[in-house]
Amino acid sequence: MKLRIIAALVLLTQVGMAKEGMWIPSLLNVVYGDMQSQGLQLTAEDLYDANGSSVKDAIVLFGGGCTAEIVSNDGLLFTNHHCGFDYIQFHSSLKNDYLRDGFWAKSRAEELRCDGLSVVFVVRMDDVTEAMRMGITAAMSPAEVDALLQKNKKTLEEKYKKENPALGLQLKSFNYGNQYLAIITKTYNDVRLVGAPPSEIGKFGGDTDNWVWPRHTGDFSVFRIYADANNEPAKYNASNVPFKPLHHLPINIGGVKEGDFSMVYGFPGRTEHLLTSYAVDFITNKLNPMRIDMRDQTIAVLQERMRASDEIRIKYAAKQSDVANAWKKWKGQQIGLTNFRALEQKRKFEEQYLAQCTKTEFKTYAEVLPKLESLYSQVNHLNFEAQLFVEYMYYGPELFNFSYRFQELVANFDTLKAQGKLQSTIDELKKGARAFFKDFDLATEMQIYARLQPLYETKYNTHDVIDNVGLVSDSDMLSYFNKSVFCDSTLLFKLLDKPGKGMLKKMKSDYFYSHAVAMFNDYNTRLRPQVGDLNKQIDFWMQKYTEGMMKMFPGNYWADANSTLRISYGKVDGSFPRDGEHYTPHTTADGILQKYYTGNPDFEISPKLKSLLETRNYGNYSSGGELNVCYTGSNHTTGGNSGSPALNAKGELTGINFDRSWESTMSDIMYNPEICRNIMVDIRYVLWVIDVYADADYLLQEMTIVK
Ligand code: ASP
Repeated sequence: MKLRIIAALVLLTQVGMAKEGMWIPSLLNVVYGDMQSQGLQLTAEDLYDANGSSVKDAIVLFGGGCTAEIVSNDGLLFTNHHCGFDYIQFHSSLKNDYLRDGFWAKSRAEELRCDGLSVVFVVRMDDVTEAMRMGITAAMSPAEVDALLQKNKKTLEEKYKKENPALGLQLKSFNYGNQYLAIITKTYNDVRLVGAPPSEIGKFGGDTDNWVWPRHTGDFSVFRIYADANNEPAKYNASNVPFKPLHHLPINIGGVKEGDFSMVYGFPGRTEHLLTSYAVDFITNKLNPMRIDMRDQTIAVLQERMRASDEIRIKYAAKQSDVANAWKKWKGQQIGLTNFRALEQKRKFEEQYLAQCTKTEFKTYAEVLPKLESLYSQVNHLNFEAQLFVEYMYYGPELFNFSYRFQELVANFDTLKAQGKLQSTIDELKKGARAFFKDFDLATEMQIYARLQPLYETKYNTHDVIDNVGLVSDSDMLSYFNKSVFCDSTLLFKLLDKPGKGMLKKMKSDYFYSHAVAMFNDYNTRLRPQVGDLNKQIDFWMQKYTEGMMKMFPGNYWADANSTLRISYGKVDGSFPRDGEHYTPHTTADGILQKYYTGNPDFEISPKLKSLLETRNYGNYSSGGELNVCYTGSNHTTGGNSGSPALNAKGELTGINFDRSWESTMSDIMYNPEICRNIMVDIRYVLWVIDVYADADYLLQEMTIVK
């Protein structure tokens, strides 16, 4: 292990060892040769072609934060169960519990509309670095550079809008502004739910298994894109027709084996592999411990209450997933980064960087690291406060955030009235409030508040400007809730039906509302601008830091994930997570039964699933008498890659990416080739669920299945 750490040190951010990196498909030439030597059988144009059809045309950004892939000529999409979760939950009720029982549309007419869900195609990616950085000189200050970048960006946006008025445009910075791409996109808004397995499959293992290998989760769901009669994007309309894609992925049920070429094509959200030690120190020693502690509390409450009641389980399912997902990832990240001595490696690399700066040709970079160190010493504690606010406001009790939605109504009541906008504003608020109360449980909220308030107010409190309430007693707390209009839907709607002085008075004096306003004001007027300004300066110096790194240590640099389309490649591979432990690269259905017999409720399965597995009713999907469920690979992935297609050397779908092992979550900051593995659900298990378990085999008719 020691040797590896030293190797990693020298080539900290370069490729060469294992398959670190998320590559831009339009600039694949830098690694294409290596991909071929690893087994890829497609040309670079097969993967990405701006003018013809290519694999790219079967991949979409799903719901803003996940990936999905097209698997039929009728716009059928596969993504993860956890990516479709909000929509499955939205359509679920005690009567139609699609979360628990699953959902399968028996015909296209039964497919469920999902308001607010969109998918985004990448039409083309153009390198616009020169145009973006035009006029920038080494002597310019951060503010001057920023102003010029804004100006150049505007010019480019105008040019692209003129050329492609109907298409979307994203101007994205890569490697801290050392490269810029213009990404032309096309968005479809009529996307419908076609099928979802029940939780016992789609969420098998629950939080116990989230971010864990060995894994047995059938984390997939099925949607369909609809278009107008010309195959163009259109708002939901019953008469819309299934979208005809330029390309759909063939599905290979021949299976994968250890050592096979494997790639993941999708929209990874965010990595930070170039961070300096000053940032890594802050994240691992300050930020993560606080965030984990805050979420520990919420999760403890949710776990207990959701287990005790089906109603609360449905109400809080999406919130629980949201809170628990990052919480467990940070915990894994802490372990991985500590064991891999990430901070030490970063520091050593910075020493090497500084040593290079003594050479005449690199002298201009000598001031970069000291500048970054000083900026981080200013921003870290502000960031801590900002993240504490985020944890409390968005992942803890909900009444602050909910009541703050009424701020515009309260603050601008007279203006809204004068403009004739009062009723429409109230109608919108009522709509939001109905959705809020559908998933709200007062006792749960009170318990979360009781646990988090002391952490926010005292344990982690470093802010002096906000009107702190200090620790509240139990009886005070009871009276806040009893008196609040925001936790009683009848009362709130009554007030909204008679908008006037009485309503305003009640809202303004509400504990949750008044504190939310004070806290949001402080965040928006003090914290955010300061953090924003310091971050801009950090970006300025990070651009120089990265530029210097590329010159001092030449190699193939991959740009951090930024929700743009990427390809990661590697092998189907197991790992050695800890001394004496070896993970095989695949799991089988036997493991579902083994976990079931442990009695943990996260591994509960129905008699139906149990019997199918016990009798080994594997249909056409077994190999060697086994039903493979999940597999791992050395593909560098991150959040946002959820739902991404896992492809073989021919570009055929062999799995759906959905997670990483716990030890791998460090790969957002530092990739460890021995340990970092992505987790995919085997496509044979997906088809087995659709075909044998759910009897929805009619869906298979429209897919292209090869062996
Ligand atoms: N589970 C992750 C997601 O939700 C995927 C990952 O981070 O590996 O996007």
